[in-house]
Amino acid sequence: MTNHLFSLVRDGAADPTRTVIETHEGRHHSYADLLARSGAYAAALVAAGVAPGDRVAVQVEKSAEVIFLYLGVVRAGAMFLPLNTAYTPAEIGYFLGDAEPALFVCDPAKREALAGAAAGVRQVWTLDAAGTGSAAEAADAQDGAAFADVPRAPEDLAAILYTSGTTGRSKGAMLTHDNLASNAKVMVEVWRFTADDVLIHALPVFHTHGLFVATNTVLASGGTMLFLPRLDSKKILELMPRATAMMGVPTFYTRLLKEPGLTREVSRSIRLFTSGSAPLLAETHREWQARTGHAILERYGMTETNMSTSNPYDGDRVAGTVGFPLPGVSLRVVDPESGVALGPDEVGMIEVKGANVFKGYWRMPEKTAAEFKPDGFFITGDLGKVDSRGYVHIVGRGKDLIISGGFNVYPKEVETEIDALPGIVESAVIGLPHPDFGEAVTAVVVGGEGAPDEAAVTADLEGRLAKFKCPKRVLFVDELPRNTMGKVQKNILREQFAGLFG
Ligand code: ATP
Ligand code: MG
Repeated sequence: MTNHLFSLVRDGAADPTRTVIETHEGRHHSYADLLARSGAYAAALVAAGVAPGDRVAVQVEKSAEVIFLYLGVVRAGAMFLPLNTAYTPAEIGYFLGDAEPALFVCDPAKREALAGAAAGVRQVWTLDAAGTGSAAEAADAQDGAAFADVPRAPEDLAAILYTSGTTGRSKGAMLTHDNLASNAKVMVEVWRFTADDVLIHALPVFHTHGLFVATNTVLASGGTMLFLPRLDSKKILELMPRATAMMGVPTFYTRLLKEPGLTREVSRSIRLFTSGSAPLLAETHREWQARTGHAILERYGMTETNMSTSNPYDGDRVAGTVGFPLPGVSLRVVDPESGVALGPDEVGMIEVKGANVFKGYWRMPEKTAAEFKPDGFFITGDLGKVDSRGYVHIVGRGKDLIISGGFNVYPKEVETEIDALPGIVESAVIGLPHPDFGEAVTAVVVGGEGAPDEAAVTADLEGRLAKFKCPKRVLFVDELPRNTMGKVQKNILREQFAGLFG
Protein backbone atom coordinates (compact mmCIF):
# COMPACT_ATOMS: atom_id res chain seq x y z
CA MET A 1 0.00 0.00 0.00
CA THR A 2 1.20 3.52 -0.74
CA ASN A 3 0.53 6.75 1.10
CA HIS A 4 -2.61 7.68 -0.82
CA LEU A 5 -2.43 11.49 -0.69
CA PHE A 6 1.33 11.79 -0.97
CA SER A 7 1.36 9.48 -4.00
CA LEU A 8 -0.57 12.17 -5.82
CA VAL A 9 2.19 14.67 -5.04
CA ARG A 10 4.92 12.20 -6.07
CA ASP A 11 3.16 11.58 -9.38
CA GLY A 12 2.67 15.34 -9.85
CA ALA A 13 6.37 16.08 -9.28
CA ALA A 14 7.38 14.67 -12.65
CA ASP A 15 10.19 17.18 -13.10
CA PRO A 16 12.18 17.42 -9.83
CA THR A 17 14.12 20.46 -11.03
CA ARG A 18 10.99 22.56 -11.44
CA THR A 19 10.24 25.20 -8.78
CA VAL A 20 7.33 24.32 -6.55
CA ILE A 21 7.42 27.42 -4.34
CA GLU A 22 9.06 30.77 -4.93
CA THR A 23 8.87 32.90 -1.80
CA HIS A 24 8.41 36.67 -1.68
CA GLU A 25 12.10 36.92 -0.70
CA GLY A 26 12.96 35.28 -4.01
CA ARG A 27 13.91 31.84 -2.66
CA HIS A 28 13.22 28.98 -5.05
CA HIS A 29 12.30 25.54 -3.70
CA SER A 30 12.24 22.74 -6.27
CA TYR A 31 10.16 19.56 -6.26
CA ALA A 32 13.38 17.74 -5.35
CA ASP A 33 13.64 19.99 -2.27
CA LEU A 34 10.00 19.28 -1.47
CA LEU A 35 10.57 15.52 -1.60
CA ALA A 36 13.72 15.70 0.54
CA ARG A 37 12.43 18.23 3.04
CA SER A 38 9.01 16.65 3.59
CA GLY A 39 10.84 13.32 4.03
CA ALA A 40 13.09 14.94 6.64
CA TYR A 41 10.07 16.30 8.53
CA ALA A 42 8.37 12.91 8.34
CA ALA A 43 11.50 11.20 9.71
CA ALA A 44 11.79 13.78 12.49
CA LEU A 45 8.14 13.31 13.44
CA VAL A 46 8.48 9.54 13.55
CA ALA A 47 11.67 9.89 15.63
CA ALA A 48 9.71 12.13 18.03
CA GLY A 49 7.17 9.36 18.51
CA VAL A 50 4.41 10.66 16.22
CA ALA A 51 2.43 7.61 15.13
CA PRO A 52 -0.29 7.01 12.54
CA GLY A 53 -3.55 8.54 13.74
CA ASP A 54 -1.79 11.17 15.88
CA ARG A 55 -2.58 14.82 15.36
CA VAL A 56 0.13 17.41 14.69
CA ALA A 57 -1.25 20.86 15.48
CA VAL A 58 0.43 23.82 13.82
CA GLN A 59 0.04 27.56 14.35
CA VAL A 60 2.78 29.22 12.32
CA GLU A 61 3.19 32.00 9.79
CA LYS A 62 3.03 31.12 6.12
CA SER A 63 6.27 29.82 4.59
CA ALA A 64 7.45 27.15 2.16
CA GLU A 65 8.63 25.21 5.20
CA VAL A 66 5.11 24.84 6.62
CA ILE A 67 4.03 23.20 3.35
CA PHE A 68 6.91 20.72 3.68
CA LEU A 69 5.89 20.14 7.31
CA TYR A 70 2.28 19.49 6.18
CA LEU A 71 3.50 16.92 3.67
CA GLY A 72 5.85 15.44 6.27
CA VAL A 73 2.90 14.91 8.63
CA VAL A 74 0.97 13.21 5.82
CA ARG A 75 3.95 11.00 4.92
CA ALA A 76 4.38 10.04 8.60
CA GLY A 77 0.78 8.81 8.53
CA ALA A 78 -0.40 11.43 11.03
CA MET A 79 -3.07 14.11 10.71
CA PHE A 80 -2.19 17.71 9.91
CA LEU A 81 -4.12 20.18 12.03
CA PRO A 82 -3.44 23.80 11.09
CA LEU A 83 -4.72 26.66 13.22
CA ASN A 84 -5.50 30.26 12.28
CA THR A 85 -2.54 32.53 13.07
CA ALA A 86 -4.97 35.08 14.54
CA TYR A 87 -6.13 32.74 17.32
CA THR A 88 -5.27 33.98 20.80
CA PRO A 89 -3.57 31.77 23.42
CA ALA A 90 -6.98 31.16 25.04
CA GLU A 91 -8.42 29.99 21.71
CA ILE A 92 -5.37 27.83 21.03
CA GLY A 93 -5.87 26.31 24.47
CA TYR A 94 -9.38 25.28 23.45
CA PHE A 95 -8.26 23.74 20.15
CA LEU A 96 -5.34 21.85 21.70
CA GLY A 97 -7.64 20.53 24.41
CA ASP A 98 -10.13 19.41 21.76
CA ALA A 99 -7.60 17.90 19.35
CA GLU A 100 -5.12 16.41 21.86
CA PRO A 101 -2.20 16.53 19.43
CA ALA A 102 0.95 14.49 19.97
CA LEU A 103 2.94 17.54 18.93
CA PHE A 104 2.29 21.27 18.60
CA VAL A 105 4.36 23.53 16.35
CA CYS A 106 4.14 27.26 17.04
CA ASP A 107 5.88 30.51 16.22
CA PRO A 108 8.97 30.93 18.45
CA ALA A 109 7.83 34.49 19.21
CA LYS A 110 4.61 33.09 20.70
CA ARG A 111 6.19 30.15 22.52
CA GLU A 112 6.09 31.82 25.92
CA ALA A 113 2.60 33.24 25.58
CA LEU A 114 1.35 29.80 24.51
CA ALA A 115 3.04 27.91 27.35
CA GLY A 116 -0.18 27.68 29.35
CA ALA A 117 -2.31 26.75 26.35
CA ALA A 118 0.13 23.99 25.37
CA ALA A 119 0.74 22.70 28.89
CA GLY A 120 -1.03 19.41 28.19
CA VAL A 121 0.81 18.71 24.91
CA ARG A 122 3.68 16.20 25.09
CA GLN A 123 6.03 18.12 22.77
CA VAL A 124 6.19 21.64 21.38
CA TRP A 125 8.36 22.64 18.43
CA THR A 126 8.82 26.05 16.83
CA LEU A 127 8.92 27.38 13.27
CA ASP A 128 9.03 31.02 12.21
CA ALA A 129 8.13 32.86 9.00
CA ALA A 130 11.73 32.49 7.78
CA GLY A 131 11.42 28.72 8.15
CA THR A 132 13.72 28.43 11.17
CA GLY A 133 13.03 26.98 14.61
CA SER A 134 13.32 23.70 16.49
CA ALA A 135 11.02 21.95 13.97
CA ALA A 136 13.37 22.87 11.12
CA GLU A 137 16.35 21.79 13.23
CA ALA A 138 14.74 18.42 13.93
CA ALA A 139 14.30 17.99 10.17
CA ASP A 140 17.91 19.11 9.47
CA ALA A 141 19.12 16.17 11.56
CA GLN A 142 17.36 13.63 9.31
CA ASP A 143 18.04 12.14 5.90
CA GLY A 144 14.87 12.99 4.02
CA ALA A 145 15.71 10.95 0.94
CA ALA A 146 15.82 7.75 2.99
CA PHE A 147 12.32 8.10 4.42
CA ALA A 148 9.81 5.44 3.40
CA ASP A 149 6.27 6.84 3.42
CA VAL A 150 3.99 5.35 6.04
CA PRO A 151 1.31 3.53 4.04
CA ARG A 152 -2.14 5.11 4.28
CA ALA A 153 -5.38 3.93 2.70
CA PRO A 154 -7.81 6.27 0.94
CA GLU A 155 -10.15 6.16 3.95
CA ASP A 156 -7.47 7.05 6.54
CA LEU A 157 -7.56 10.56 7.97
CA ALA A 158 -5.02 13.04 6.61
CA ALA A 159 -6.14 16.23 8.31
CA ILE A 160 -8.42 17.84 10.79
CA LEU A 161 -9.34 21.30 9.64
CA TYR A 162 -11.36 23.64 11.81
CA THR A 163 -14.15 25.60 10.11
CA SER A 164 -13.91 29.37 10.02
CA GLY A 165 -16.24 29.95 12.96
CA THR A 166 -18.47 32.33 10.98
CA THR A 167 -21.70 30.96 12.47
CA GLY A 168 -20.49 29.74 15.86
CA ARG A 169 -17.64 27.85 17.45
CA SER A 170 -15.32 26.26 14.86
CA LYS A 171 -15.78 22.54 14.32
CA GLY A 172 -12.96 20.13 13.44
CA ALA A 173 -13.68 18.52 10.06
CA MET A 174 -12.07 15.07 9.67
CA LEU A 175 -10.72 14.79 6.12
CA THR A 176 -9.45 11.58 4.62
CA HIS A 177 -6.60 11.04 2.19
CA ASP A 178 -9.14 10.44 -0.54
CA ASN A 179 -11.30 13.47 0.33
CA LEU A 180 -8.25 15.60 -0.45
CA ALA A 181 -6.68 13.53 -3.25
CA SER A 182 -9.89 13.00 -5.22
CA ASN A 183 -10.79 16.68 -4.99
CA ALA A 184 -7.31 17.79 -6.08
CA LYS A 185 -7.52 15.51 -9.12
CA VAL A 186 -10.90 16.95 -10.06
CA MET A 187 -9.62 20.53 -9.75
CA VAL A 188 -6.57 19.77 -11.89
CA GLU A 189 -8.90 18.38 -14.52
CA VAL A 190 -11.69 20.97 -14.53
CA TRP A 191 -9.40 23.98 -14.10
CA ARG A 192 -6.82 22.50 -16.52
CA PHE A 193 -3.77 22.78 -14.29
CA THR A 194 -0.43 21.58 -15.72
CA ALA A 195 3.24 21.72 -14.75
CA ASP A 196 3.47 24.97 -16.73
CA ASP A 197 1.13 26.79 -14.37
CA VAL A 198 2.38 29.52 -12.07
CA LEU A 199 -0.15 30.37 -9.38
CA ILE A 200 -0.18 33.58 -7.36
CA HIS A 201 -0.71 32.30 -3.82
CA ALA A 202 -1.50 35.08 -1.34
CA LEU A 203 -4.02 33.10 0.74
CA PRO A 204 -3.36 31.84 4.27
CA VAL A 205 -2.31 28.18 4.50
CA PHE A 206 -4.34 27.33 7.62
CA HIS A 207 -7.62 27.37 5.67
CA THR A 208 -8.98 24.96 3.07
CA HIS A 209 -8.77 27.54 0.26
CA GLY A 210 -5.03 28.22 0.51
CA LEU A 211 -3.95 24.81 1.79
CA PHE A 212 -6.05 22.29 -0.05
CA VAL A 213 -7.69 24.04 -3.00
CA ALA A 214 -4.66 26.06 -4.08
CA THR A 215 -1.69 24.04 -2.81
CA ASN A 216 -2.94 20.51 -3.47
CA THR A 217 -4.08 21.43 -6.98
CA VAL A 218 -0.70 22.87 -7.89
CA LEU A 219 1.21 19.99 -6.26
CA ALA A 220 -0.88 17.43 -8.11
CA SER A 221 -0.09 19.13 -11.41
CA GLY A 222 3.63 19.72 -10.81
CA GLY A 223 3.28 23.49 -11.22
CA THR A 224 4.69 26.48 -9.36
CA MET A 225 3.35 28.74 -6.62
CA LEU A 226 4.46 32.31 -6.00
CA PHE A 227 4.00 32.70 -2.25
CA LEU A 228 3.05 36.03 -0.72
CA PRO A 229 2.55 36.15 3.05
CA ARG A 230 -0.79 37.94 2.66
CA LEU A 231 -2.99 39.92 0.30
CA ASP A 232 -0.90 42.81 -1.03
CA SER A 233 -2.38 44.26 -4.22
CA LYS A 234 0.78 46.03 -5.31
CA LYS A 235 2.89 42.88 -4.96
CA ILE A 236 0.24 40.81 -6.74
CA LEU A 237 0.36 43.24 -9.66
CA GLU A 238 4.15 42.93 -9.75
CA LEU A 239 3.88 39.14 -9.97
CA MET A 240 1.00 39.02 -12.41
CA PRO A 241 2.99 39.21 -15.68
CA ARG A 242 4.87 36.05 -14.61
CA ALA A 243 1.82 34.09 -13.52
CA THR A 244 -0.84 32.02 -15.25
CA ALA A 245 -3.44 31.79 -12.48
CA MET A 246 -4.63 33.31 -9.23
CA MET A 247 -7.02 31.98 -6.60
CA GLY A 248 -8.52 34.53 -4.26
CA VAL A 249 -11.36 35.47 -1.99
CA PRO A 250 -13.62 38.32 -3.20
CA THR A 251 -11.57 40.88 -1.25
CA PHE A 252 -8.61 40.15 -3.57
CA TYR A 253 -10.65 41.30 -6.52
CA THR A 254 -12.22 44.38 -4.91
CA ARG A 255 -8.80 45.52 -3.63
CA LEU A 256 -7.08 44.95 -6.97
CA LEU A 257 -9.82 46.88 -8.76
CA LYS A 258 -8.76 49.94 -6.73
CA GLU A 259 -5.28 49.76 -8.29
CA PRO A 260 -4.85 51.86 -11.44
CA GLY A 261 -2.17 49.36 -12.48
CA LEU A 262 -4.77 46.63 -13.02
CA THR A 263 -5.06 46.43 -16.79
CA ARG A 264 -5.49 44.00 -19.64
CA GLU A 265 -1.76 44.27 -20.28
CA VAL A 266 -0.66 43.33 -16.76
CA SER A 267 -2.96 40.27 -16.69
CA ARG A 268 -2.15 39.13 -20.23
CA SER A 269 -0.39 35.90 -19.20
CA ILE A 270 -3.14 34.82 -16.79
CA ARG A 271 -5.44 32.06 -17.98
CA LEU A 272 -7.55 31.67 -14.81
CA PHE A 273 -8.82 33.80 -11.95
CA THR A 274 -10.93 31.96 -9.38
CA SER A 275 -12.94 33.26 -6.44
CA GLY A 276 -14.52 31.56 -3.46
CA SER A 277 -14.93 31.35 0.34
CA ALA A 278 -17.47 34.17 0.26
CA PRO A 279 -19.92 35.52 -2.33
CA LEU A 280 -18.41 37.55 -5.15
CA LEU A 281 -20.57 40.54 -6.01
CA ALA A 282 -21.91 40.37 -9.56
CA GLU A 283 -20.71 43.96 -9.89
CA THR A 284 -17.13 42.92 -9.09
CA HIS A 285 -17.35 40.16 -11.69
CA ARG A 286 -18.47 42.67 -14.34
CA GLU A 287 -15.92 45.34 -13.43
CA TRP A 288 -13.13 42.75 -13.48
CA GLN A 289 -14.12 41.58 -16.92
CA ALA A 290 -14.30 45.15 -18.20
CA ARG A 291 -10.86 46.02 -16.81
CA THR A 292 -8.92 42.84 -17.57
CA GLY A 293 -10.93 40.94 -20.16
CA HIS A 294 -11.09 37.92 -17.80
CA ALA A 295 -14.30 36.42 -16.41
CA ILE A 296 -13.61 35.37 -12.81
CA LEU A 297 -14.47 31.72 -12.26
CA GLU A 298 -16.50 31.50 -9.05
CA ARG A 299 -16.71 28.21 -7.22
CA TYR A 300 -18.23 26.96 -3.97
CA GLY A 301 -16.88 24.78 -1.23
CA MET A 302 -16.50 24.44 2.48
CA THR A 303 -14.02 23.02 4.97
CA GLU A 304 -16.23 19.93 5.27
CA THR A 305 -16.66 19.27 1.55
CA ASN A 306 -13.61 20.70 -0.20
CA MET A 307 -14.84 21.97 -3.58
CA SER A 308 -18.40 21.07 -4.55
CA THR A 309 -19.29 23.28 -7.52
CA SER A 310 -17.51 25.38 -10.11
CA ASN A 311 -18.37 27.63 -12.98
CA PRO A 312 -17.20 26.09 -16.24
CA TYR A 313 -13.71 26.55 -17.64
CA ASP A 314 -15.22 26.68 -21.12
CA GLY A 315 -18.65 28.17 -21.39
CA ASP A 316 -20.50 30.85 -19.46
CA ARG A 317 -19.11 31.85 -16.08
CA VAL A 318 -22.28 33.40 -14.74
CA ALA A 319 -21.84 36.23 -12.23
CA GLY A 320 -23.66 35.61 -8.98
CA THR A 321 -23.62 31.82 -9.42
CA VAL A 322 -21.18 29.14 -8.32
CA GLY A 323 -21.62 27.00 -11.42
CA PHE A 324 -22.26 23.28 -11.69
CA PRO A 325 -21.59 20.35 -9.32
CA LEU A 326 -18.06 19.02 -9.93
CA PRO A 327 -17.59 15.56 -11.46
CA GLY A 328 -18.36 12.97 -8.78
CA VAL A 329 -20.35 15.41 -6.63
CA SER A 330 -24.10 14.99 -6.25
CA LEU A 331 -25.92 18.13 -5.20
CA ARG A 332 -29.58 18.63 -4.41
CA VAL A 333 -31.75 21.38 -2.98
CA VAL A 334 -34.39 20.26 -0.52
CA ASP A 335 -37.14 21.78 1.56
CA PRO A 336 -35.44 22.23 4.97
CA GLU A 337 -38.56 21.08 6.87
CA SER A 338 -39.89 18.19 4.80
CA GLY A 339 -36.62 17.14 3.15
CA VAL A 340 -38.43 16.88 -0.19
CA ALA A 341 -36.26 17.64 -3.24
CA LEU A 342 -37.14 20.95 -4.87
CA GLY A 343 -37.39 21.88 -8.53
CA PRO A 344 -35.51 24.47 -10.59
CA ASP A 345 -35.34 27.96 -9.08
CA GLU A 346 -36.88 26.87 -5.78
CA VAL A 347 -34.84 27.98 -2.77
CA GLY A 348 -33.98 25.43 -0.11
CA MET A 349 -31.15 23.70 1.74
CA ILE A 350 -28.15 22.59 -0.32
CA GLU A 351 -27.03 19.02 0.33
CA VAL A 352 -24.00 17.30 -1.22
CA LYS A 353 -22.57 13.81 -1.46
CA GLY A 354 -19.38 12.47 -3.00
CA ALA A 355 -15.77 11.46 -2.44
CA ASN A 356 -15.13 15.09 -1.47
CA VAL A 357 -17.34 14.99 1.65
CA PHE A 358 -15.63 14.69 5.05
CA LYS A 359 -15.96 11.84 7.54
CA GLY A 360 -17.59 13.84 10.32
CA TYR A 361 -16.82 16.39 13.00
CA TRP A 362 -13.98 15.54 15.35
CA ARG A 363 -15.38 14.36 18.68
CA MET A 364 -18.90 15.56 17.84
CA PRO A 365 -20.80 12.36 17.02
CA GLU A 366 -24.24 13.92 17.63
CA LYS A 367 -23.50 16.93 15.44
CA THR A 368 -22.12 14.62 12.74
CA ALA A 369 -25.23 12.43 12.88
CA ALA A 370 -27.48 15.49 12.70
CA GLU A 371 -25.77 16.90 9.60
CA PHE A 372 -25.91 13.73 7.49
CA LYS A 373 -29.04 12.30 5.87
CA PRO A 374 -29.61 8.53 5.97
CA ASP A 375 -28.72 8.32 2.25
CA GLY A 376 -25.32 9.89 2.90
CA PHE A 377 -26.00 13.48 1.81
CA PHE A 378 -24.35 16.19 3.94
CA ILE A 379 -26.51 19.15 4.94
CA THR A 380 -24.30 22.12 4.08
CA GLY A 381 -26.24 24.76 6.02
CA ASP A 382 -26.24 26.94 2.90
CA LEU A 383 -29.48 27.93 1.23
CA GLY A 384 -29.62 28.08 -2.53
CA LYS A 385 -31.23 27.03 -5.74
CA VAL A 386 -30.41 25.41 -9.05
CA ASP A 387 -31.61 27.41 -12.03
CA SER A 388 -33.10 25.99 -15.22
CA ARG A 389 -29.64 25.85 -16.85
CA GLY A 390 -28.24 23.87 -13.90
CA TYR A 391 -26.20 26.68 -12.33
CA VAL A 392 -26.15 26.65 -8.54
CA HIS A 393 -26.89 29.90 -6.73
CA ILE A 394 -26.02 30.42 -3.06
CA VAL A 395 -28.68 32.51 -1.40
CA GLY A 396 -27.07 32.66 2.03
CA ARG A 397 -26.65 30.62 5.15
CA GLY A 398 -29.57 28.91 6.82
CA LYS A 399 -28.51 30.60 10.05
CA ASP A 400 -28.82 34.03 8.42
CA LEU A 401 -32.38 33.46 7.22
CA ILE A 402 -34.64 36.15 8.66
CA ILE A 403 -38.12 35.31 9.86
CA SER A 404 -40.06 38.55 10.12
CA GLY A 405 -43.72 38.49 11.08
CA GLY A 406 -43.77 34.79 10.17
CA PHE A 407 -42.39 35.34 6.66
CA ASN A 408 -39.02 34.02 5.44
CA VAL A 409 -36.72 36.70 4.08
CA TYR A 410 -33.55 35.66 2.26
CA PRO A 411 -30.95 38.36 2.95
CA LYS A 412 -29.29 37.91 -0.45
CA GLU A 413 -32.45 38.92 -2.31
CA VAL A 414 -32.63 42.20 -0.40
CA GLU A 415 -28.85 42.76 -0.62
CA THR A 416 -28.93 42.31 -4.40
CA GLU A 417 -31.59 45.03 -4.73
CA ILE A 418 -29.69 47.42 -2.45
CA ASP A 419 -26.33 46.77 -4.13
CA ALA A 420 -27.86 47.62 -7.50
CA LEU A 421 -28.60 51.18 -6.37
CA PRO A 422 -26.19 53.77 -7.78
CA GLY A 423 -23.67 54.91 -5.18
CA ILE A 424 -24.02 51.80 -2.98
CA VAL A 425 -20.83 49.75 -2.57
CA GLU A 426 -22.23 46.77 -0.69
CA SER A 427 -24.67 45.73 1.99
CA ALA A 428 -25.39 43.12 4.62
CA VAL A 429 -29.01 42.40 5.52
CA ILE A 430 -29.60 40.94 8.97
CA GLY A 431 -32.49 40.17 11.28
CA LEU A 432 -32.60 42.05 14.60
CA PRO A 433 -34.87 41.25 17.56
CA HIS A 434 -38.13 43.19 17.25
CA PRO A 435 -41.05 43.28 19.71
CA ASP A 436 -43.76 42.92 17.02
CA PHE A 437 -42.11 41.11 14.12
CA GLY A 438 -39.87 38.73 16.03
CA GLU A 439 -37.06 39.78 13.73
CA ALA A 440 -36.85 43.03 11.81
CA VAL A 441 -35.14 43.11 8.42
CA THR A 442 -32.25 45.56 8.80
CA ALA A 443 -29.81 46.68 6.13
CA VAL A 444 -26.25 47.65 6.98
CA VAL A 445 -24.91 49.53 4.00
CA VAL A 446 -21.59 50.86 2.74
CA GLY A 447 -22.22 53.93 0.61
CA GLY A 448 -19.83 55.43 -1.91
CA GLU A 449 -19.84 58.76 -3.66
CA GLY A 450 -23.36 60.07 -4.27
CA ALA A 451 -24.96 57.32 -2.18
CA PRO A 452 -28.68 57.73 -1.44
CA ASP A 453 -29.70 58.27 2.20
CA GLU A 454 -31.85 55.99 4.35
CA ALA A 455 -35.14 57.47 3.14
CA ALA A 456 -34.13 57.20 -0.50
CA VAL A 457 -33.01 53.58 -0.16
CA THR A 458 -36.23 52.66 1.64
CA ALA A 459 -38.41 54.44 -0.92
CA ASP A 460 -36.64 52.70 -3.77
CA LEU A 461 -36.92 49.24 -2.26
CA GLU A 462 -40.62 49.66 -1.50
CA GLY A 463 -41.23 49.81 -5.22
CA ARG A 464 -39.33 46.58 -5.87
CA LEU A 465 -39.71 44.23 -2.90
CA ALA A 466 -42.73 42.89 -1.03
CA LYS A 467 -43.37 44.99 2.06
CA PHE A 468 -42.28 42.27 4.51
CA LYS A 469 -38.88 42.07 2.81
CA CYS A 470 -38.19 45.82 2.99
CA PRO A 471 -35.68 46.84 5.66
CA LYS A 472 -37.22 48.53 8.68
CA ARG A 473 -33.98 50.46 9.02
CA VAL A 474 -31.03 51.18 6.74
CA LEU A 475 -27.81 51.85 8.64
CA PHE A 476 -24.72 53.30 7.00
CA VAL A 477 -21.23 52.12 7.98
CA ASP A 478 -17.73 52.75 6.56
CA GLU A 479 -17.05 49.06 5.98
CA LEU A 480 -18.49 45.66 6.78
CA PRO A 481 -16.67 43.52 9.37
CA ARG A 482 -14.81 40.70 7.62
CA ASN A 483 -12.59 37.87 8.78
CA THR A 484 -9.31 36.83 7.14
CA MET A 485 -11.15 34.86 4.46
CA GLY A 486 -13.17 37.92 3.44
CA LYS A 487 -16.37 36.57 4.99
CA VAL A 488 -18.79 39.19 6.27
CA GLN A 489 -19.29 38.58 9.98
CA LYS A 490 -23.01 39.07 10.36
CA ASN A 491 -22.86 37.88 13.97
CA ILE A 492 -20.80 40.98 14.80
CA LEU A 493 -23.38 43.23 13.13
CA ARG A 494 -26.22 41.45 14.95
CA GLU A 495 -24.46 42.02 18.28
CA GLN A 496 -23.54 45.61 17.48
CA PHE A 497 -27.10 46.62 16.58
CA ALA A 498 -28.97 44.18 18.84
CA GLY A 499 -30.87 46.88 20.74
CA LEU A 500 -31.96 48.91 17.71
CA PHE A 501 -35.65 48.03 17.96
CA GLY A 502 -35.83 48.11 21.78
P1 ATP B 1 -18.46 27.92 10.35
O1 ATP B 1 -18.91 26.67 9.67
O2 ATP B 1 -17.50 27.64 11.45
O3 ATP B 1 -19.57 28.83 10.74
P2 ATP B 1 -17.63 28.84 7.71
O4 ATP B 1 -18.82 28.08 7.22
O5 ATP B 1 -17.49 30.25 7.26
O6 ATP B 1 -17.57 28.80 9.30
P3 ATP B 1 -15.73 27.65 5.91
O7 ATP B 1 -15.77 26.18 5.82
O8 ATP B 1 -14.43 28.33 5.80
O9 ATP B 1 -16.31 28.04 7.32
O10 ATP B 1 -16.65 28.29 4.82
C1 ATP B 1 -17.61 27.59 4.08
C2 ATP B 1 -18.76 28.50 3.76
O11 ATP B 1 -18.33 29.61 2.96
C3 ATP B 1 -19.84 27.85 2.92
O12 ATP B 1 -20.70 27.04 3.70
C4 ATP B 1 -20.52 29.06 2.31
O13 ATP B 1 -21.46 29.63 3.22
C5 ATP B 1 -19.38 30.04 2.12
N1 ATP B 1 -18.91 30.08 0.72
C6 ATP B 1 -17.86 29.45 0.17
N2 ATP B 1 -17.74 29.74 -1.14
C7 ATP B 1 -18.77 30.57 -1.43
C8 ATP B 1 -19.21 31.24 -2.61
N3 ATP B 1 -18.57 31.13 -3.77
N4 ATP B 1 -20.32 32.01 -2.51
C9 ATP B 1 -20.98 32.14 -1.35
N5 ATP B 1 -20.62 31.56 -0.21
C10 ATP B 1 -19.52 30.78 -0.24
MG1 MG C 1 -19.59 26.29 7.84
